Amino acid sequence: MSRQFFVGGNFKMNPNSVAEKKVLTTLLNQAELDSSVEVVVSPPSLYLIPLKEILRPEIKVAAQNCYFKDSGAFTGEISPPQLKDAGIPYVILGHSERRTLFHETSEIVAQKTKAALASGLSVILCIGETLEQRESEQTTAVCSAQLQAAVDILSEGDWSKIVIAYEPVWAIGTGKVATSKQAQDTHADIRAFLTKAVSPAVAAATRIIYGGSVNKGNCVELSKQPDVDGFLVGGASLKPEFVDIINATK
Ligand code: PEP
Repeated sequence: MSRQFFVGGNFKMNPNSVAEKKVLTTLLNQAELDSSVEVVVSPPSLYLIPLKEILRPEIKVAAQNCYFKDSGAFTGEISPPQLKDAGIPYVILGHSERRTLFHETSEIVAQKTKAALASGLSVILCIGETLEQRESEQTTAVCSAQLQAAVDILSEGDWSKIVIAYEPVWAIGTGKVATSKQAQDTHADIRAFLTKAVSPAVAAATRIIYGGSVNKGNCVELSKQPDVDGFLVGGASLKPEFVDIINATK
């Protein structure tokens, strides 16, 4: 089963100006990118529409979050139908910063995922363990439990619009990347979980991407792992090396 390589850029709460955003866009618009790779960039919500308008059409945009209700008195939130209406195809859900800083449980992330899919969005669903959990050999259990919450409320067909981002918390923004073996082993465990919890077909088709201090120096080796189907990139997605990461399998 061949899965299309996927590279996402999570800009987080950056850049701080329209001018900086234009620099990034020009870089991506002018670069020679591997056309076989699906590329999605995720700016702060304020910049989603302007970025989408100036990016070359094959590069998609993703929101960094959404709520699970369609509309109503939820100050500060954006709903899945609003994203859909604005022509935004993807949303990142369950990023570890949202789980930790904004107290999102796996159940909330699952509800958001269900709502996003119901509105026709695709979802980059983030999971991953802390350093303490890895050191106490709970990585597989933690990732499985995070996914189980989604399995509990989604249908088998829903998984065709989900990309799973395995992002060990200890590797995000730390410069401490998982080894290729650590990434491959965990991705294989996640696929095995999907086989049992959803179906062998979903397990074979679902893209599982790695995130956590990916850069131009480590992306090629990571990309050679059979169960690594791409990357979610934070810090390096704001730099010219993002192009090298997109082209990691070229
Ligand atoms: C992220 O925030 O999703 C991420 C992977 O960040 P970084 O690449 O900076 O570790």
